[in-house]
Amino acid sequence: MEGYETGAGTARQAVKMDMPADQPQTPIDEVIRTAYDNIGLERLETVRALVPRVGMGGLSPVLLNKIRPLFKHTHLVKDEYLFQQDDEVDFVYFPENSVISEFQMLADGRTIEVAVTGNESAVGISAVWSTSSAVNCAQVCVGGDAYRIEKDVLERELTYSRPLQRWLHDQINAYIKQISQKVICNTHHAVEERFCTWLLMLQDRSRKNKFNLTQEYIAGVLGVYRPSVTCMAKSLREKNAIDYVRGQIFITDRSKLRKMCCSCYSELPPRRVF
Ligand SMILES: [Zn+2]
Repeated sequence: MEGYETGAGTARQAVKMDMPADQPQTPIDEVIRTAYDNIGLERLETVRALVPRVGMGGLSPVLLNKIRPLFKHTHLVKDEYLFQQDDEVDFVYFPENSVISEFQMLADGRTIEVAVTGNESAVGISAVWSTSSAVNCAQVCVGGDAYRIEKDVLERELTYSRPLQRWLHDQINAYIKQISQKVICNTHHAVEERFCTWLLMLQDRSRKNKFNLTQEYIAGVLGVYRPSVTCMAKSLREKNAIDYVRGQIFITDRSKLRKMCCSCYSELPPRRVF
Protein backbone atom coordinates (compact mmCIF):
# COMPACT_ATOMS: atom_id res chain seq x y z
CA MET A 1 0.00 0.00 0.00
CA GLU A 2 1.41 3.35 -0.98
CA GLY A 3 3.06 5.00 1.95
CA TYR A 4 2.77 1.88 4.07
CA GLU A 5 5.45 -0.42 5.35
CA THR A 6 6.49 -2.98 2.81
CA GLY A 7 7.51 -6.59 3.16
CA ALA A 8 4.22 -7.97 4.34
CA GLY A 9 3.28 -11.45 3.25
CA THR A 10 0.27 -12.58 1.35
CA ALA A 11 -3.01 -13.72 2.73
CA ARG A 12 -2.67 -15.74 5.87
CA GLN A 13 -4.65 -18.66 7.19
CA ALA A 14 -8.34 -18.45 6.45
CA VAL A 15 -11.17 -19.50 8.71
CA LYS A 16 -12.08 -23.16 9.15
CA MET A 17 -14.94 -24.87 7.32
CA ASP A 18 -17.70 -25.04 9.88
CA MET A 19 -21.13 -24.68 8.35
CA PRO A 20 -23.85 -23.41 10.67
CA ALA A 21 -26.81 -25.52 11.72
CA ASP A 22 -30.06 -25.05 9.80
CA GLN A 23 -31.94 -21.96 10.89
CA PRO A 24 -35.17 -21.75 8.89
CA GLN A 25 -36.04 -18.32 10.27
CA THR A 26 -32.73 -16.77 9.27
CA PRO A 27 -33.04 -14.40 6.30
CA ILE A 28 -31.49 -15.78 3.14
CA ASP A 29 -28.97 -12.95 2.91
CA GLU A 30 -27.62 -13.84 6.33
CA VAL A 31 -27.54 -17.55 5.47
CA ILE A 32 -25.49 -16.78 2.38
CA ARG A 33 -23.26 -14.40 4.25
CA THR A 34 -22.70 -16.76 7.16
CA ALA A 35 -21.85 -19.57 4.79
CA TYR A 36 -19.53 -17.22 2.92
CA ASP A 37 -17.73 -16.40 6.16
CA ASN A 38 -17.24 -20.05 6.98
CA ILE A 39 -16.18 -21.22 3.57
CA GLY A 40 -12.65 -19.93 3.93
CA LEU A 41 -10.71 -18.04 1.32
CA GLU A 42 -8.82 -21.09 0.13
CA ARG A 43 -12.13 -22.67 -0.96
CA LEU A 44 -13.67 -19.56 -2.42
CA GLU A 45 -12.54 -20.13 -6.01
CA THR A 46 -14.06 -23.61 -6.06
CA VAL A 47 -17.36 -22.35 -4.73
CA ARG A 48 -17.48 -19.56 -7.28
CA ALA A 49 -17.10 -22.12 -10.02
CA LEU A 50 -20.01 -24.18 -8.71
CA VAL A 51 -22.52 -21.43 -8.02
CA PRO A 52 -24.32 -20.06 -11.08
CA ARG A 53 -23.51 -16.46 -11.81
CA VAL A 54 -26.30 -14.05 -11.06
CA GLY A 55 -26.29 -10.33 -10.82
CA MET A 56 -26.98 -7.75 -13.51
CA GLY A 57 -28.47 -5.39 -11.01
CA GLY A 58 -30.84 -7.94 -9.56
CA LEU A 59 -32.83 -8.19 -12.78
CA SER A 60 -35.02 -11.28 -12.91
CA PRO A 61 -34.11 -13.86 -15.57
CA VAL A 62 -37.23 -12.94 -17.56
CA LEU A 63 -36.37 -9.24 -17.60
CA LEU A 64 -32.74 -9.96 -18.21
CA ASN A 65 -33.46 -12.15 -21.22
CA LYS A 66 -35.70 -9.46 -22.65
CA ILE A 67 -33.20 -6.64 -22.50
CA ARG A 68 -29.92 -8.55 -22.58
CA PRO A 69 -29.32 -7.75 -26.30
CA LEU A 70 -29.37 -4.06 -25.43
CA PHE A 71 -26.43 -4.37 -23.05
CA LYS A 72 -22.83 -4.02 -24.11
CA HIS A 73 -20.00 -5.68 -22.24
CA THR A 74 -17.27 -3.38 -21.03
CA HIS A 75 -14.16 -3.72 -18.94
CA LEU A 76 -13.82 -1.06 -16.28
CA VAL A 77 -10.32 0.01 -15.33
CA LYS A 78 -9.43 0.79 -11.73
CA ASP A 79 -9.76 4.55 -10.95
CA GLU A 80 -11.63 5.25 -14.22
CA TYR A 81 -14.41 7.81 -13.83
CA LEU A 82 -17.78 6.79 -15.25
CA PHE A 83 -19.08 10.32 -14.76
CA GLN A 84 -18.23 13.39 -12.76
CA GLN A 85 -20.47 15.42 -10.53
CA ASP A 86 -22.82 17.57 -12.67
CA ASP A 87 -22.09 15.54 -15.83
CA GLU A 88 -24.83 14.31 -18.08
CA VAL A 89 -25.27 10.58 -17.49
CA ASP A 90 -25.31 8.77 -20.83
CA PHE A 91 -25.02 5.17 -19.66
CA VAL A 92 -26.28 3.03 -16.81
CA TYR A 93 -23.65 0.53 -15.65
CA PHE A 94 -24.29 -2.97 -14.31
CA PRO A 95 -21.12 -4.21 -12.60
CA GLU A 96 -20.33 -7.91 -12.73
CA ASN A 97 -17.20 -8.34 -10.64
CA SER A 98 -16.21 -4.68 -10.72
CA VAL A 99 -17.16 -2.30 -7.92
CA ILE A 100 -18.06 1.36 -8.34
CA SER A 101 -17.73 4.05 -5.68
CA GLU A 102 -19.72 7.27 -5.74
CA PHE A 103 -18.18 10.30 -4.11
CA GLN A 104 -19.09 13.75 -2.91
CA MET A 105 -16.39 16.40 -2.85
CA LEU A 106 -16.07 18.66 0.17
CA ALA A 107 -15.29 22.37 -0.07
CA ASP A 108 -11.69 21.79 1.05
CA GLY A 109 -11.10 19.28 -1.75
CA ARG A 110 -11.46 16.15 0.37
CA THR A 111 -13.86 13.49 -0.81
CA ILE A 112 -16.10 10.99 0.92
CA GLU A 113 -17.77 7.91 -0.46
CA VAL A 114 -21.56 8.01 -0.40
CA ALA A 115 -22.39 4.75 -2.19
CA VAL A 116 -20.70 1.57 -3.34
CA THR A 117 -22.23 -0.66 -6.01
CA GLY A 118 -21.46 -4.11 -7.33
CA ASN A 119 -23.50 -6.69 -9.17
CA GLU A 120 -26.46 -6.29 -6.82
CA SER A 121 -27.43 -3.01 -8.44
CA ALA A 122 -26.58 -0.50 -11.15
CA VAL A 123 -24.84 2.87 -11.34
CA GLY A 124 -26.54 5.88 -12.89
CA ILE A 125 -30.11 4.77 -12.23
CA SER A 126 -31.01 8.01 -10.45
CA ALA A 127 -30.49 9.81 -13.76
CA VAL A 128 -33.08 7.68 -15.54
CA TRP A 129 -36.21 9.63 -16.46
CA SER A 130 -34.57 12.72 -15.05
CA THR A 131 -33.28 15.91 -16.61
CA SER A 132 -30.91 16.42 -13.68
CA SER A 133 -27.17 15.99 -14.07
CA ALA A 134 -25.14 13.56 -11.97
CA VAL A 135 -25.38 14.22 -8.24
CA ASN A 136 -22.15 12.39 -7.43
CA CYS A 137 -19.04 11.37 -9.31
CA ALA A 138 -18.66 7.65 -9.98
CA GLN A 139 -15.23 6.03 -9.98
CA VAL A 140 -14.15 2.44 -10.48
CA CYS A 141 -12.91 1.15 -7.12
CA VAL A 142 -12.29 -2.45 -8.19
CA GLY A 143 -11.62 -2.95 -11.88
CA GLY A 144 -13.39 -5.73 -13.74
CA ASP A 145 -16.28 -6.59 -15.99
CA ALA A 146 -19.55 -4.72 -16.33
CA TYR A 147 -22.39 -4.23 -18.75
CA ARG A 148 -23.78 -0.90 -19.78
CA ILE A 149 -26.89 0.30 -21.50
CA GLU A 150 -27.58 3.72 -22.98
CA LYS A 151 -29.78 5.70 -20.64
CA ASP A 152 -32.11 6.64 -23.50
CA VAL A 153 -32.52 2.99 -24.49
CA LEU A 154 -33.28 1.96 -20.91
CA GLU A 155 -35.86 4.76 -20.65
CA ARG A 156 -37.53 3.50 -23.83
CA GLU A 157 -37.71 -0.06 -22.47
CA LEU A 158 -39.07 1.21 -19.16
CA THR A 159 -41.92 2.92 -20.95
CA TYR A 160 -43.31 -0.44 -22.07
CA SER A 161 -42.50 -2.66 -19.09
CA ARG A 162 -44.16 -2.42 -15.70
CA PRO A 163 -41.85 -5.09 -14.21
CA LEU A 164 -38.87 -3.07 -15.36
CA GLN A 165 -40.37 0.06 -13.82
CA ARG A 166 -40.78 -1.80 -10.51
CA TRP A 167 -37.16 -2.94 -10.76
CA LEU A 168 -36.06 0.67 -11.27
CA HIS A 169 -38.01 1.88 -8.25
CA ASP A 170 -36.67 -0.96 -6.12
CA GLN A 171 -33.14 -0.03 -7.14
CA ILE A 172 -33.68 3.65 -6.41
CA ASN A 173 -35.13 2.79 -3.00
CA ALA A 174 -32.12 0.58 -2.26
CA TYR A 175 -29.86 3.42 -3.40
CA ILE A 176 -31.59 5.87 -1.06
CA LYS A 177 -31.34 3.36 1.78
CA GLN A 178 -27.63 2.92 1.21
CA ILE A 179 -26.98 6.67 1.12
CA SER A 180 -29.09 7.12 4.28
CA GLN A 181 -27.12 4.38 6.01
CA LYS A 182 -23.89 6.03 4.90
CA VAL A 183 -25.01 9.23 6.63
CA ILE A 184 -25.49 7.30 9.87
CA CYS A 185 -22.21 5.47 9.36
CA ASN A 186 -20.14 8.56 8.60
CA THR A 187 -21.67 10.40 11.55
CA HIS A 188 -21.87 7.81 14.32
CA HIS A 189 -19.45 4.97 13.65
CA ALA A 190 -15.73 4.82 14.36
CA VAL A 191 -13.49 5.06 11.37
CA GLU A 192 -11.92 1.61 11.95
CA GLU A 193 -15.40 0.04 12.02
CA ARG A 194 -16.27 1.85 8.80
CA PHE A 195 -13.05 0.64 7.18
CA CYS A 196 -13.86 -2.98 8.09
CA THR A 197 -17.39 -2.64 6.74
CA TRP A 198 -16.14 -1.14 3.52
CA LEU A 199 -13.59 -3.93 2.95
CA LEU A 200 -16.29 -6.55 3.51
CA MET A 201 -18.57 -4.80 1.05
CA LEU A 202 -15.80 -4.76 -1.54
CA GLN A 203 -15.20 -8.46 -1.04
CA ASP A 204 -18.89 -9.34 -1.31
CA ARG A 205 -19.20 -7.48 -4.57
CA SER A 206 -15.91 -8.32 -6.26
CA ARG A 207 -15.44 -11.86 -4.90
CA LYS A 208 -11.77 -11.03 -4.34
CA ASN A 209 -9.55 -10.87 -1.31
CA LYS A 210 -6.83 -8.68 -2.82
CA PHE A 211 -7.40 -5.05 -3.78
CA ASN A 212 -5.26 -2.40 -5.41
CA LEU A 213 -5.85 0.41 -2.96
CA THR A 214 -3.57 3.24 -1.97
CA GLN A 215 -3.59 4.89 1.40
CA GLU A 216 -4.72 8.11 -0.28
CA TYR A 217 -7.67 6.40 -1.97
CA ILE A 218 -8.89 4.84 1.29
CA ALA A 219 -8.60 8.22 3.01
CA GLY A 220 -10.79 9.67 0.24
CA VAL A 221 -13.38 6.93 0.72
CA LEU A 222 -13.60 7.39 4.48
CA GLY A 223 -13.25 11.18 4.46
CA VAL A 224 -10.21 11.14 6.76
CA TYR A 225 -6.57 12.14 6.48
CA ARG A 226 -3.89 9.68 5.42
CA PRO A 227 -2.26 9.23 8.85
CA SER A 228 -5.57 7.86 10.14
CA VAL A 229 -5.50 5.19 7.45
CA THR A 230 -1.90 4.30 8.33
CA CYS A 231 -2.85 3.77 11.98
CA MET A 232 -5.91 1.70 11.12
CA ALA A 233 -4.06 -0.49 8.65
CA LYS A 234 -1.29 -1.20 11.17
CA SER A 235 -3.85 -2.00 13.84
CA LEU A 236 -5.78 -4.40 11.60
CA ARG A 237 -2.58 -6.09 10.46
CA GLU A 238 -1.50 -6.60 14.06
CA LYS A 239 -4.85 -8.34 14.60
CA ASN A 240 -4.19 -10.51 11.51
CA ALA A 241 -7.35 -9.28 9.83
CA ILE A 242 -5.61 -7.74 6.84
CA ASP A 243 -2.19 -7.56 5.32
CA TYR A 244 -0.68 -5.17 2.81
CA VAL A 245 2.21 -4.38 0.60
CA ARG A 246 2.76 -1.21 -1.36
CA GLY A 247 -0.46 -0.34 -3.19
CA GLN A 248 -2.20 -3.61 -2.32
CA ILE A 249 -4.32 -4.76 0.58
CA PHE A 250 -5.34 -8.34 1.41
CA ILE A 251 -8.21 -9.58 3.51
CA THR A 252 -6.53 -12.36 5.45
CA ASP A 253 -9.25 -13.17 7.97
CA ARG A 254 -12.76 -12.17 7.00
CA SER A 255 -14.23 -13.43 10.27
CA LYS A 256 -12.14 -10.88 12.18
CA LEU A 257 -13.39 -8.06 9.98
CA ARG A 258 -16.94 -9.24 10.67
CA LYS A 259 -16.35 -8.90 14.39
CA MET A 260 -14.87 -5.42 14.03
CA CYS A 261 -17.19 -3.91 11.41
CA CYS A 262 -20.08 -1.60 12.25
CA SER A 263 -23.76 -2.56 12.19
CA CYS A 264 -24.13 -1.00 8.74
CA TYR A 265 -22.74 -4.17 7.23
CA SER A 266 -25.80 -6.10 8.40
CA GLU A 267 -28.12 -3.25 7.42
CA LEU A 268 -26.95 -3.28 3.82
CA PRO A 269 -26.81 -6.92 2.77
CA PRO A 270 -25.93 -7.62 -0.83
CA ARG A 271 -28.77 -9.41 -2.52
CA ARG A 272 -26.28 -11.18 -4.74
CA VAL A 273 -23.11 -12.46 -3.15
CA PHE A 274 -21.77 -14.59 -5.99
ZN1 LIG B 1 -21.42 2.07 9.90
